[in-house]
Amino acid sequence: MTGWVVVAGLGPGSEMLVTPEVTAALAEATDVVGYIPYVARVAPRPGLVLHPSDNRVEVERATHALEMAAAGRRVVVVSSGDPGVFAMASALFEAMEARPDLASVDIRVLPGITAMLAAAAAAGAPLGHDFCAINLSDNLKPWPLIEKRLRLAAEADLAMAFYNPRSKSRPEGFRKVLELLREACGPERLITFARAVSTPDQRIETVTLAEAQPEMADMRTVVLVGNSATRRVGRWVYTPRSA
Ligand code: SAH
Repeated sequence: MTGWVVVAGLGPGSEMLVTPEVTAALAEATDVVGYIPYVARVAPRPGLVLHPSDNRVEVERATHALEMAAAGRRVVVVSSGDPGVFAMASALFEAMEARPDLASVDIRVLPGITAMLAAAAAAGAPLGHDFCAINLSDNLKPWPLIEKRLRLAAEADLAMAFYNPRSKSRPEGFRKVLELLREACGPERLITFARAVSTPDQRIETVTLAEAQPEMADMRTVVLVGNSATRRVGRWVYTPRSA
């Protein structure tokens, strides 16, 4: 039997936003590997072994997936959203670099709908022109690098999407981000807090930077900051195509 690894994105939460390609890969899998809450989104069935693991063990998890595939298993590594956006696809290639003996494993990366796109759609079109995505977690990269990218993105007048904005272990970081943005973009800039997008808990709130509070974000929130032309029309927020 020939094994393989598929790295799949499960989308932001709704079953409707899982692609048919990902559903087909899961139907063929013998094993599913991933962070506990994401593996919990996969329906159990006879013949499918679920391997939930904790946060922060991404490379170990990826190595395990490659080893199982080398032994003939059909393994799906699940991420939320898109697997290439702050998720397992990079971890898999890191694991492969460290283990040349596993470099010939058959790998496919299947895209998914990432949180910022589902959030932008729910709000209107705040990412309707040039934008960037920044992971605000300093677990793996130094905080000064995050601040540098924020400053330069503000200077370039890009709209921005922030992932992992605020966690219990990093309560101060997002407060500093809001201060930096108020200074760089001014108090009137629009900021959208999109929580649990596409789930029954979805909440979308748009305020100005002057009104924004750190507590408006948590780890289930993706934060969208407009550029200088981003504005409201009715209940929507959009960025014009010319700006
Ligand atoms: N690979 C994922 C991102 C993983 S990082 C993707 O492409 O979406 C985890 C962060 O994603 C969370 O802290 C949050 O900022 C964001 N996120 C994931 N799902 C979300 C959802 N349904 N609603 C809002 N934000 C979400």
